[in-house]
Amino acid sequence: MGSGGAGGRFDLPEADAFSRTYWDAAAEGRLLVRRCGACGRAHHYPREFCPHCWSEDVRWEQASGRATLYTWSVVHRNDLPPFGERVPYVAAVVDLVEGPRLMTEVVESEAGDLRVGMAVEAVFREAGEFRVPVFRVCVAP
Ligand SMILES: [Zn+2]
Repeated sequence: MGSGGAGGRFDLPEADAFSRTYWDAAAEGRLLVRRCGACGRAHHYPREFCPHCWSEDVRWEQASGRATLYTWSVVHRNDLPPFGERVPYVAAVVDLVEGPRLMTEVVESEAGDLRVGMAVEAVFREAGEFRVPVFRVCVAP
């Protein structure tokens, strides 16, 4: 997802029949992960098989949207549209409470205020006809 290039933008997801479920939920502000019926682990980004044990017994599950901040980096330069208009922004990796690690962006915070392990929560940002999950620091614990 997200390799993009359509319409000269590089932030738009590409939905296929499989990922449509994910993007439809995101449009409603719900974050989905995939949970394996064989080993019980969740994963993200969505795949049709479990990346931990290769089982195909995987289902959609609605995630809480809660996560902790694992690492981040301030991006000062990105020549791919529309990121150039958005710099600087905080590219981040977060660990969902359900387990999966997710590459995303932290919004509404200065990088200097961020700490490893901070509680963050998913919010959804418009991206063309899609809404993509980004994260902000939780106000309340
Ligand atoms: Zn599995």
